[in-house]
Amino acid sequence: MDVNSTTENFTRRALWAQIDLDAAAHNMQVIRKHVGPHVRIAAVVKANAYGHGAVELARTFAANGADCFAVSSLDEAVELRRYAGIKKDIFILGHTDGRRTEELLLYHVEPAVFNLKNAEFFSSEASRLGQTLRVHVAIDSGMSRIGFLPDEESIATITRIASLPAIEVHGIFTHFAVADEADKTFTRQQFERFMWVCSRLEDEGVRIPLRHCCNSAATLELPEYHLDMVRPGIIQYGCEPSRAVSLAGYGFEPVMSLRCCVAHNKLIDAGSTVSYGRHFVCDQRRKIATLPVGYADGYMRALSGKVDVLFHGHRVPQVGTICMDQCMIDVTGEVNVRAGDEVVLFGRQGDQFIPIEELADKAGTINYEIMCNINRRVPRVYIQNGQVVEREEYLFDKP
Ligand SMILES: *Cc1c(COP(=O)(O)O)cnc(C)c1O
Repeated sequence: MDVNSTTENFTRRALWAQIDLDAAAHNMQVIRKHVGPHVRIAAVVKANAYGHGAVELARTFAANGADCFAVSSLDEAVELRRYAGIKKDIFILGHTDGRRTEELLLYHVEPAVFNLKNAEFFSSEASRLGQTLRVHVAIDSGMSRIGFLPDEESIATITRIASLPAIEVHGIFTHFAVADEADKTFTRQQFERFMWVCSRLEDEGVRIPLRHCCNSAATLELPEYHLDMVRPGIIQYGCEPSRAVSLAGYGFEPVMSLRCCVAHNKLIDAGSTVSYGRHFVCDQRRKIATLPVGYADGYMRALSGKVDVLFHGHRVPQVGTICMDQCMIDVTGEVNVRAGDEVVLFGRQGDQFIPIEELADKAGTINYEIMCNINRRVPRVYIQNGQVVEREEYLFDKP
């Protein structure tokens, strides 16, 4: 089916997140070019690949330069092994319970380790199963989230973990708190602390193959910190890590757009009101179209009355309170408004573009949160070479 001949039968539901796999492939190639051939790229595909669909995106990244994958939980790793056929390394950025060691080994997934007890439990479980578990040691260099603090006590503990019989320390990593801000002072401090830990461990004879610390912002702006591996997330999806990190000149392309079809439209009289709370009052006779998208899909209620959508190739305002499953737009003055006409909530339509960042600013949040919150009841439609190559309709396709 041609993308341009969108109809309400495009997916079973007339609302979908359109995912441009060519853009995703291109973005990974841009990252590869930027880091060079010798730095490993761990594609961060946590949170269903930031809402884009982890299965499809992991496959695309694997084919275009990613060496391995980072997820936030074992369950996300299992999805990649079971449904995406991913054979490359997968490691977990957050906590994993020691009682899941058997699954970690079965699916070849590397957990983060940040306390001795957990590491000892991993080791004893792996020993019992006659195997060795690869782990990544987390260092807390200033985020105060997970990780060992950069001090002598931690050096002793990590040295001990590295000597556990069934543990192989494959990586060591830290995470930056403000790499996406213009002032890199604190990030430099974090890096120094991390390097101190790495070199002290070397003094102790602990050799760890993969040292990694760069998220998207640091991958772009602090190339001297790439070390053995980088962990880009948001830039893979063609979006900026923050307003302070410019993507200009790299050639990244947004991957996701959110689209729907008009479900209903009508003329209402002056004085009529639209939606809950009656906050939008018609000053004249107006043409109002109803969209099958609401805050339960991730089109946040906080956006009510503040945003535009693209309709017939230009901007029109969203009006009235956004409901759970529906909302209204004002199409007064538009001709030939029909149920089934395509509406773009963010992304491109013709030569017009609404960046997801515009919605994020208006909702008082960040692009990351909006994309992750596109609910699983919203079908994903994957486009390659202008053609639909895959539809993911989670409510139908997954048990
Ligand atoms: C989410 C995450 C990343 C990726 O962050 P981006 O800002 O999306 O690049 C990298 N490392 C860790 C530990 C993370 O949690």
